[in-house]
Amino acid sequence: MIYDTYIGFEMTPIRMHRINLDHNATTPLLPAVLDKMLPVLRENSGNPSSAHSLGVDARAAVETARTQVATLVGAEPASVLFTSSATEAINTVIASCTQASSITGRIVVTGVEHASVLQSAAAAKSRGYETLCVGVDRAGRLNLESLEQAISPATTLVCVMWANNESGVVFPISEIAALCATRGVPLLVDAVQAAGKLPITMADLGIDFLAINAHKIYGPKGIGALVVANPLSVRPLLFGGHQEGGRRAGTENVPGIIGFGEAARLARQDLQRRTQLATPLRDQIESEILRRVPFASVNGADAPRIYNTSNIGFDGIDADTLVAELDSLGVCVSTGSACHSDSISPSHVVMAMTGSYEKASEAVRFSVSHLNTKHEIDHAIEAVVRTVEMLRAKAIPA
Ligand code: PLP
Repeated sequence: MIYDTYIGFEMTPIRMHRINLDHNATTPLLPAVLDKMLPVLRENSGNPSSAHSLGVDARAAVETARTQVATLVGAEPASVLFTSSATEAINTVIASCTQASSITGRIVVTGVEHASVLQSAAAAKSRGYETLCVGVDRAGRLNLESLEQAISPATTLVCVMWANNESGVVFPISEIAALCATRGVPLLVDAVQAAGKLPITMADLGIDFLAINAHKIYGPKGIGALVVANPLSVRPLLFGGHQEGGRRAGTENVPGIIGFGEAARLARQDLQRRTQLATPLRDQIESEILRRVPFASVNGADAPRIYNTSNIGFDGIDADTLVAELDSLGVCVSTGSACHSDSISPSHVVMAMTGSYEKASEAVRFSVSHLNTKHEIDHAIEAVVRTVEMLRAKAIPA
């Protein structure tokens, strides 16, 4: 989306005009979603646990949203537990499945998971739990045989993401779910980047736990969901009141939940249209950059990917420098997960794919939206081509 009016390269910018190509970090709140949230923010201050009519109205709104979120992922409404984020949902499952009482247990993750999985697994390890990390190939694909070998009789949880936030690579979730079912091991799927981009049928696939949030599907920040095939199979992370069937204590974030519900409803209804609008924009970025920029390559090009993501490596270019230069031209992209933007370590995802620290330091993520325009993409490509040329020219000794 162009904010304010477009300003070309040769003109002096009067105000900064930003082109957002970082939608895997977060998405803008849709006006239709805000419209659903405003009345409850302004007028209804009911607590869903209250017995009076204000509470009853708030409860009804929460339950409508629960159904909308459940429908997006192909689950029963009773399976949806609202949380503050996908991070909380993931932490809940990993803590629940790695209790100190079963200290001999094992948890299996992949090397390209989000920090919320990797750091929760590290916490389980510090409690004495064995953590096994399965690698990916050069294209970011998961080898199912390696995953199977990593599962032992002691394994109490397998955690995999549906679609990768940095490379966009999609894992074969139905095969992974079948494998885990055969081995009798619970499966946690981080579906944050898949929700709203791919059809999700959690119950049909037999997935035990699924984590999603609202802010990646044009809903508000600070609200997520843990979808659980059997809610009794998860132990709470937070203790207190009886909210969410006693599985997640704390007064519900009613406006956030209402926004999440509406965002989920729209995401499901609009999935095909969003895909059709955004796919050519992502493809244009990739093909134009590969055509015009020497020594550029797409990380994950040989694997199935979500339609909006392109992770491009520019040989000899420091990705952080490129991102900063592009930002100064009003083009917002990233070097990887927003959760790592304040650390100096390069993308662990590209590192896992390529085995190269250098390649990981040269990777830039472009994540488009159906809200982007062709005009914005043309402008962003021009900015990338010129900036890479400029940085490479600078690097040549005089
Ligand atoms: N998993 C993936 C793949 C993500 O991209 C993110 C957010 O960046 C998360 C988990 C964490 O989501 P939240 O911001 O709701 O904690």
